[in-house]
Amino acid sequence: MALFGSSGIRGLANKEITPELALNVGLAIGSLHKSAVIGRDPRTSGEMIEHGIISGLLSAGCDVTRVGMVPTPTLAYAARNYDCGVMITASHNPPEYGGIKLWNKNGLAFNTQQQDGIESIIRDRKWKIAKWDGIGRVNETEVIEDHAKMILAKAGKASLKVVVDCGCGAASVITPYLLRRMGCKVVTLNSQPDGFFPARDPEPIEKNLEMLKKTTIAMGADLGIAHDGDADRMMAVDNRGRFLEGDKLLAFFGLRETTKSIVVPVDTSIMVDDVLNGRTIYKTRVGDVYVAEELMKRNAQFGGEPSGSWIFPEISLCPDGILAAARLVAIVEKEGHLDALIDELPTYPMIRGAIPCANEKKASAMKAIAGSLKKLGEVCDIDGIRVDTNNGWVLVRPSGTEPKIRITAEARTGVEELYAKAETLVKGSL
Ligand code: MG
Repeated sequence: MALFGSSGIRGLANKEITPELALNVGLAIGSLHKSAVIGRDPRTSGEMIEHGIISGLLSAGCDVTRVGMVPTPTLAYAARNYDCGVMITASHNPPEYGGIKLWNKNGLAFNTQQQDGIESIIRDRKWKIAKWDGIGRVNETEVIEDHAKMILAKAGKASLKVVVDCGCGAASVITPYLLRRMGCKVVTLNSQPDGFFPARDPEPIEKNLEMLKKTTIAMGADLGIAHDGDADRMMAVDNRGRFLEGDKLLAFFGLRETTKSIVVPVDTSIMVDDVLNGRTIYKTRVGDVYVAEELMKRNAQFGGEPSGSWIFPEISLCPDGILAAARLVAIVEKEGHLDALIDELPTYPMIRGAIPCANEKKASAMKAIAGSLKKLGEVCDIDGIRVDTNNGWVLVRPSGTEPKIRITAEARTGVEELYAKAETLVKGSL
């Protein structure tokens, strides 16, 4: 089984992500790098995994700097001062999961080639073992202030009332304090780190944010902010307590952070294309790491995913939910009520669905419908098959994690017909 998925190494803590695995990963990283900075989110498995990795790194002769419990973007920003960064996190997964994500100096997650390098060292047990006088050393440092100062310089002052829901994740140690330093009146929800995530599921999707919506209304706040477990994601609610759809937030940031170019995933709404008319919009596979890689390749100004990942490449290629929160607050301070700013953006009807399909049948089904789909319009096949028609688009894509083929259709008008056409094709291929 491949060790790395699209979000690094992730699995059930102490079952798949074991101390032995952590030790081996540490040995492999330490065989390739001279220094590493290591941090973790608040999960119950974090310290266990951290100690395993540190032992491996030291044994291979790599020096280690520990920064404790920090958000992923804080760790990735600190990585610029070391050979690499190691973040122990399972992001927005449920509490029983653990994970390891590796970072380059520029905030880009390890790419496939680098991951394969680590994996082959582990598979062949070809790690370096240092002699007694070459064993690595550990020191500890504080990196949150460094990240906060950079964000304060980039975001400026604001005097809004903001509700922040950290979901008991790593953002608890930075976002509320940072917004207060900007000048905001901050009301915190779930802002004590807790690896059991007792308040809500760590994923910042609408159904998990009812408390944020209600509190934002009850407090008469200007907006509400929510993070996932490791704070690389940020979602928001407006001053009326309405959850902001990811596509809307993407268009909102795109308008203000770019003049020329932006990178978005292939399942992004055409509303974003329409609103950012005149800019070059690069489309990638679904996944923030693909957005980050394309940003670097194209030297584009901003990248984002509707799931809540926002990348500011002049600072780092790691999605930064904290910087995104500060930027959002600064924009609302300057431009006025968030509900009105969001309502300036058009809404097009979208249908998302899925057809059950056994994993082993996915490839043949996709092959069978490719020809017919291509007749509907202009095709893009970087991730599943997306067809753009005159009036909208449809994406047919095998799920990476479930026995399903997903269909997403969006159109200025006639979305039902477009969805039905794709659904008929998929069903006919099974
Ligand atoms: Mg995350």
